[in-house]
Amino acid sequence: MGNYLFLLPYISVVIKRGLFFYFSETDILTIIMALAKLEKKFFGTNGVRGVTGQDMTPIFALEMSEAYGTFLGPGKTVGIGKDTRTSGDALGAAVSAGLIDAGCNVIDFGILPTPALQYLILSKKLDGGVMITASHNPAEYNGFKFIDADGTELGDDKTIEVEQIYLNKSMVHASWNEVGHLFYDYDSYLIYIDAIVSQFPVGIGKGISVAIDPGNGAACRTAPEIFKRLGCDVHVINGEYDGTFPGRLPEPSEEGLKKLSEEVVKTGSAFGIAHDGDADRAVFVDEMGRFIDGNIMLAILASYFAEQNHGGEIVTTLASSGVIEAVGKQFGCKTINTVVGSPYVARTMREELDAGKNVFIGGEGNGGIIYPSHQFCRDGGMSGATLVGLLATKKTPLSSYIDSLPKFTMYQEKRMTSRAKEITEHMRSYFVDYPIDNRDGIKIVKGNAWALIRPSGTEPLIRVYTESEDAAEAKALMDLILAEITPYLA
Ligand code: MG
Repeated sequence: MGNYLFLLPYISVVIKRGLFFYFSETDILTIIMALAKLEKKFFGTNGVRGVTGQDMTPIFALEMSEAYGTFLGPGKTVGIGKDTRTSGDALGAAVSAGLIDAGCNVIDFGILPTPALQYLILSKKLDGGVMITASHNPAEYNGFKFIDADGTELGDDKTIEVEQIYLNKSMVHASWNEVGHLFYDYDSYLIYIDAIVSQFPVGIGKGISVAIDPGNGAACRTAPEIFKRLGCDVHVINGEYDGTFPGRLPEPSEEGLKKLSEEVVKTGSAFGIAHDGDADRAVFVDEMGRFIDGNIMLAILASYFAEQNHGGEIVTTLASSGVIEAVGKQFGCKTINTVVGSPYVARTMREELDAGKNVFIGGEGNGGIIYPSHQFCRDGGMSGATLVGLLATKKTPLSSYIDSLPKFTMYQEKRMTSRAKEITEHMRSYFVDYPIDNRDGIKIVKGNAWALIRPSGTEPLIRVYTESEDAAEAKALMDLILAEITPYLA
């Protein structure tokens, strides 16, 4: 939360004139939070996660949801959804119970992708949402995240308020005539599918064959339907809901997508698409079955929009590849880098649009792409549909796009350490003579290469990225940094 010197004049007024004369309750809470330098204790960038039966239990979900319901206030309506994890039923029941106990009404949308829940919250004008998911984590994990009324992830300040209610045990328990009610709505996911399909001309996918791997996760029902509705021929693997994830891990890694690659080649598909457990991300293979890095895919989709939006903006993170900026430049577009995390990308996109800028795409290099014309959150289903739109318009194979992009080489390493912040400080002084960006760990430029050194927000580890158009230069910079941080890892 940074520097709080700006609060000094307010504090002196408070001391001189008395607290309540000048400030509302919200102002006071904001000041107290700032003074105490409150940070999120349970929630990371994408919700709270843990191992089922250990640190992720229905009791925790119940109490945290009571806190969220208390934060929202009585009579509010909250949409909930879940992915296919085995512990989803228990956590979902606990989340519903907590919200109802706090006086909120709950609409249970069942199993659906996170972006589908986000779309429904916005389009149905609900007051908030809870998605029960551990995204790409292995099967034993689960968790949940809160969604704001505008469909975006609940911001840091509001999340801290919910956590404070939970920690202070100041949850409200509604009386018998004020408790909320539970409603079931297992059909509204179709509204989300309609929203995506309506972004494209009718039948645009005719003649395009797509291989789909929802990974037994939340997209099993939505992904095939989206492509069918676009007019594509679909071939589905790992398409049954199964929280044991028998087909592959929920993380759509290159290793896990071998079966999808085979399916693409076998069926002569134009591409293959795989989702993570809650389908906010989409990862692709080309028509030859080659895995496509998320940065490359963002660059390809950005180039498609950039061609139509000369002078517009692309928003991505400090960890994304330079290929995105290079492609944007070819079309006269500016690239804005935010701190790492899709909620920050989404928020920046909104701010830029509010400022009258033309932002046409945003996202991260892990397959999480955001289209402001659809909604302000990353959406795996929309990413796949957009690729159909691109291939139908351009009539050239996906591989030709990959081969035509400027070549960058990125190295990514992570090291377990409890001294991640210390390492960052050391590297900050080490690179003191180089251009440096301090917003998220440190990002420096050395010659034709850049490096990002960033402590993880959720795990005891440090991540290092280096990249250059010259592979040797990127490798040399990575070797230099790893040698420099090694003494701290012992
Ligand atoms: Mg996810």
